[in-house]
Amino acid sequence: MFWVESRYASQLGAHVRNFKRTGPNNWTFSCPICGDSKKKPWKARGNVFKLEQELLFHCFRCGVSKRFGNFLKDLAPHLHQEMQLELLAEEGRPTSRADDYVPPVMKTYDQVFSVLDTIQDAWSLVDTHPVRQLMTRRKLQQIELYYTEHFWAWVNTIVPGKYVGPEKDEARLVIPFRLGSGQIIGVQGRALNGSGMKYATAAFTDEPMIWGQDRPAYQPTIVFEGPIDASFIRGALATAGGDMTTLLERWKWFMKPEEYILAYDNEPRSDATVKKMLKAAKKGYRICVWPTALKEKDVNDMILAGNDPADIRDMIIRNSYTGSAAEMQITWWKK
Ligand SMILES: [Zn+2]
Repeated sequence: MFWVESRYASQLGAHVRNFKRTGPNNWTFSCPICGDSKKKPWKARGNVFKLEQELLFHCFRCGVSKRFGNFLKDLAPHLHQEMQLELLAEEGRPTSRADDYVPPVMKTYDQVFSVLDTIQDAWSLVDTHPVRQLMTRRKLQQIELYYTEHFWAWVNTIVPGKYVGPEKDEARLVIPFRLGSGQIIGVQGRALNGSGMKYATAAFTDEPMIWGQDRPAYQPTIVFEGPIDASFIRGALATAGGDMTTLLERWKWFMKPEEYILAYDNEPRSDATVKKMLKAAKKGYRICVWPTALKEKDVNDMILAGNDPADIRDMIIRNSYTGSAAEMQITWWKK
């Protein structure tokens, strides 16, 4: 039953928006039940995934859970009928299970999802709100952003005791990190003013904190040090600080090192950055070594300077090197 259903899941693209395969047995798309959504049409919070030998549908926006067969029946009755005939022919069973049993894991998913329900969707704030103004000033676009006035207390409700004793709580922009399935594995909180720690990362699970797993993949995969930079570049991933290569190596979709392009910030005067780049080059990664004439220190600044995201992506690809060529370029580039 699973393989037949899986083949039909692959065909959902004709019936839903933003359809893509995110894993061997995972598909995401804009949920057709709740519309997902008028204001943010790029959202894809409908998921089909495998659980204990069967396929299930779940939407992280409206919370609806169904067996795949029941979901397909409502969405595309003809396709459903075809699948039923095939199941009958192949397995002598007329139907997939018809009852709308919801497996217990969905409860966990719902709990995970609801962590964002207690804070504000930053895109829904009024245009005059300082956070919206920051988003406009930085030309942010296709990135999921939330906002809370009490970042430390909010994180502590999810991971009790994570932050001990910050005397004064802080308002922060919240950037969710999700698996391909949509499940949230943690967040990064960006400070709204210059004082203190600019970025604070809170992991909710043991998954490596890699942002962008829920975006459509696009080769070659460029990896940045932060989600905001990555959000401008098609298919890009980001880590939340930390050691990029170690995180990638822990990741289940790990490819060969040379299949990634690691794009560190354009900081030729930072010993720490130079060191990280050299180390990654030694491990075999493809490294972006920014042109020495480039003034901006990151992608967001390049966007603000009027550059087109596709051109920035091309520049990164053109200026990426592996092995001893990478080490040589880094040595020339550093100041
Ligand atoms: Zn929905």
